[in-house]
Amino acid sequence: MSKYIFVTGGVVSSLGKGIISASIGKLLQTRGFKITIQKFDPYINIDPGTLNPYEHGECYVTADGMETDLDLGHYERFTGIQTTRANSMTTGRIYKAVIDKERRGDYLGKTIQVVPHITDEIKERIRFLGDQQGFDFVITEIGGTIGDIESAPYLEAIRQLKWELGKDAVCVHLTYVPYLKAASELKTKPTQHSVKEMLSYGIQPDILVLRTEKHLDDHLRMKVAGFCNVDLECVIQSEDMPSIYEVPVNMQRQGLDAAILRKMGIPVGETPELGPWNRFLQLRRESVEEVRIGLVGKYDLQDAYKSINESLSHAATYNHRKVRITFINSETLASECSEYSESGEESTERNGNSAFAVLRAQDGIVICPGFGQRGVEGKILAAQYARTHDVPCFGICLGMQMMVIEFARNVLGLKDANSREMDALTPHNVIDMMESQKNISQMGGTMRLGAYDCDLIPGSRVSGIYGHQAVCERHRHRYEFNNHYLSDFESNGMKCTGRNPETDLVEIVEIPDLRWYIGTQFHPEYQSTVLHPHPLFMDFIKATINKGSK
Ligand code: GLN
Repeated sequence: MSKYIFVTGGVVSSLGKGIISASIGKLLQTRGFKITIQKFDPYINIDPGTLNPYEHGECYVTADGMETDLDLGHYERFTGIQTTRANSMTTGRIYKAVIDKERRGDYLGKTIQVVPHITDEIKERIRFLGDQQGFDFVITEIGGTIGDIESAPYLEAIRQLKWELGKDAVCVHLTYVPYLKAASELKTKPTQHSVKEMLSYGIQPDILVLRTEKHLDDHLRMKVAGFCNVDLECVIQSEDMPSIYEVPVNMQRQGLDAAILRKMGIPVGETPELGPWNRFLQLRRESVEEVRIGLVGKYDLQDAYKSINESLSHAATYNHRKVRITFINSETLASECSEYSESGEESTERNGNSAFAVLRAQDGIVICPGFGQRGVEGKILAAQYARTHDVPCFGICLGMQMMVIEFARNVLGLKDANSREMDALTPHNVIDMMESQKNISQMGGTMRLGAYDCDLIPGSRVSGIYGHQAVCERHRHRYEFNNHYLSDFESNGMKCTGRNPETDLVEIVEIPDLRWYIGTQFHPEYQSTVLHPHPLFMDFIKATINKGSK
């Protein structure tokens, strides 16, 4: 019989519910349980695939091809367990399923209402992972903040499930304890109000996780316990940590997993060792030397390239380095360097703070994924700079496509080379729309999504990096390398070293003569986890460290 853990949040958003959910998953997994973590987002979009990253940060892609919330990235990075489309749900998807059923006549003439039809659909999707896939624990994170109109059906579903499941369901509620400087006091009132709000939905939280910037003493925890009807051991504090990866250790130290088990009547036993996890943290604390990576992209927002940031950070740690990631705005780069050419770079050196000067100061460059015209010329300039100065460079998806366009323009002499995405009429469409995409009119969920096989060319750098010839990586794109130009590229030094065995699509390009110049049509960042850093990121960081000694 599966057990259910609900994670909700009150007072403010951005409390780190995703990190707490991932930490609970990690701790229960370490105790030998089979766990899964799912997220419900209370917005109307079917999935975040059509959302601008400024709205919702990065869009994470599961192996089975679902575009999801970035919290699923945390779940996978913490636990190493792959999520699926059943792990990500939105209000839009729930309503769509209910409306589709109504159109089919499944409800036999009934009036369709939020309660019970929407709430039943939510409950079914929470229980699906337990009932159908046999997990010991299903951890369900509810996006948004309680009190929002949108969250109400989810809270009603949780209330019903808690009533039906009894001890087999617990609710972990996150709140915020602000520190008022003028009064020199930590304030618990918002937490009390938030719990009151939960009670108004009929849910008594079992465990409270209090986010705080200052340590809470026992007196304060006792006060919260007393006012909110929870046991003292169930008032956990989550202080700011130097890294999100310290959170599971902090939660274990305070017995969050033990408190959950006790609430559910499961024997607690010994606290398990977090061996490899702690070794990772130890390495992180010991790494002082920096490696500087420039992230060339158009979204000046921490969350827009979340998985890339984390993958670089994992790889740097295992290479005994601290990564210093600097965002370089590709639009600024392009406008500054409009007169840039291989010989004319001096003109851009005048201003030490320019985007171009920042680019020059890096040990390695990542050219980021993206969509649309804005900022692409800056990415092409970054690729050109890296290629002509032999700076380790990693192009991901659109980044790889820009490496290809730069090579076509400046090495093959195809001055108008472009992607059909940016210029539908380009005479040299070195990046073209995939055949399978040509008749698609609907935007959402129709790209080439999810994991596809890729065969590596024996003897290539990438096959050495992966250590084997058949890999499987996740995709999210509509455009592809145009094989018509392949022989031209190869004879001039840019090789295709990975391709899809069924479709022959080019999945990887590299310039073997350079120190590290690799572009991937797929997104390796979706598969890097704390305990299994991705080989491409590992090798890229290694190359940036050895930059001075070719
Ligand atoms: N816009 C490009 C395409 O659709 C690249 C997408 C991406 O970077 N994820 O092919």
